[in-house]
Amino acid sequence: MLEMNTPFYYYNTDLLNSNLNNLVEASKKYGIDVHYALKANYNERILNIIQSYGLGADCVSGNEVKRAVSCGFEGKDIVFAGVGKSDREILDALASDIFCFHVESVQELEVINELANSVNKVARIALRLNPNVEAETIAQITTGTSDNKFGVHHNDIEAAISGLKSMENVQFIGLHFHIGSQITNMNVFANLSKKVNYYYDYFTNNGCDVSYINLGGGLGVNYYDPTEAPDFDAYFKVFRDHLNLAEGVNLHVELGRSVVGQCGDLYTRVLYMKKATHKEFAIVDAGMNDFMRPALYKSYHKIEKYTGGEATKQYDIVGPICESTDTFAKDVELPELRRGDVVVIKTVGAYGEVLANRYNLRDDIRAYYSDECLVEV
Ligand SMILES: *Cc1c(COP(=O)(O)O)cnc(C)c1O
Repeated sequence: MLEMNTPFYYYNTDLLNSNLNNLVEASKKYGIDVHYALKANYNERILNIIQSYGLGADCVSGNEVKRAVSCGFEGKDIVFAGVGKSDREILDALASDIFCFHVESVQELEVINELANSVNKVARIALRLNPNVEAETIAQITTGTSDNKFGVHHNDIEAAISGLKSMENVQFIGLHFHIGSQITNMNVFANLSKKVNYYYDYFTNNGCDVSYINLGGGLGVNYYDPTEAPDFDAYFKVFRDHLNLAEGVNLHVELGRSVVGQCGDLYTRVLYMKKATHKEFAIVDAGMNDFMRPALYKSYHKIEKYTGGEATKQYDIVGPICESTDTFAKDVELPELRRGDVVVIKTVGAYGEVLANRYNLRDDIRAYYSDECLVEV
């Protein structure tokens, strides 16, 4: 039996597979293509599973494009967004013949045109527009309001359109939007749809042929109830109900969190118990370097004691890092904890392992998979 030293990520591949089945079924029903956003989790085993369902890939760096290709995604299924694509990254993506660059500024458009010219290619591009839609999520993961750095802002659209008409090495195919992450209110996507309708008409009326619309990602997961599966059907339906586009426009989305969020848990062991005047701390062997979301966003994650039991106590669950933000949860109700007990931080499959780092020169955290071994801690 494997000796499983804590802390570690544990991926439930059955849950991932069933989630992917739901996703693919819903995407076929509504005729919307899905790209998986690698940024949420680019673990190779996870990517191989996702790729086997025929999804495309959404990348935000040149290395993500390379990782997608090495895990079996074909260039024709890869899209590439990002406000700061370097020349090297653009040239590599051109060499991989990716499906589309999601272009975030007029200057970037000029650079892609020049670089594509230098290698005798024509780059397919979609303009990422900043639609000024409030995502009703936490500020750090809101991306589609006019105060964010992302996308072509409204005032630059005319310049982008006239630039496009004179550029020979970029081919405009459509529009891209991504307004934020962990969005749970479907009205937000209804509002986005109205903006999409507006811009679709605007570009079409200005002589730009829109055959591709990518609505971005952002569908949230239920962090309070890790057993509730994401409702992909409702998500796709809201777009079909509110979008008003000509027949034949290809719709795409690029989901990250909702694909992988629930299939990962973080196992960590209590090292020490410490009583303060008003609080009791459980100091665990995972730190904010292993799992950053609570420190970065104050995000909520359900925490359970591995062996279960009735919740009778309140603890702050904190890590060993020399930072006060190294706190996974405050005043969480749990069964009594002692040194050596294992606690499980739930729903860490997205933006968990990818954000891990070696701050304090700690070890890299490792991962296990349910189809490889059962947890035995
Ligand atoms: C992060 C990101 C996504 C995925 O967002 P989720 O909230 O994880 O679904 C999609 N598109 C772009 C451009 C992104 O930056």
